[in-house]
Amino acid sequence: MLKMTARAIAWIIARLHGFRYKNEWYVPHPLGDVTLVVYHVRKPLFGRFWGITLCDTLVTTATNYVRVHAMHEATHTHQCRRYGWLFPLLYLLASIKALPTGKPYWNNAFEIEARTYEEVR
Ligand SMILES: [Zn+2]
Repeated sequence: MLKMTARAIAWIIARLHGFRYKNEWYVPHPLGDVTLVVYHVRKPLFGRFWGITLCDTLVTTATNYVRVHAMHEATHTHQCRRYGWLFPLLYLLASIKALPTGKPYWNNAFEIEARTYEEVR
């Protein structure tokens, strides 16, 4: 249910940003392999992001984004599976907690975890 809700929200985001095409991307990951459904779009997401993962669905504006950031995004898939419906709230709280650092995205605990897997190849 969460997965399908996330897919529906991702679909809406994709339609609002110039949907181009959809494909799937298989990501071997230390926490468990992930198959991302990828919506490719024309415009940067909300004017600034190149990629957003909602559970098993990635919306991205750059064709090579998936290849470069697959491990990072698949980590967000695992976080979504780990915390379920609480994940969006926990992600928001982690950003609020990181606000005093001046980098609420970079210092969000979930982003820090995702970055640790970028190095794993
Ligand atoms: Zn991230």
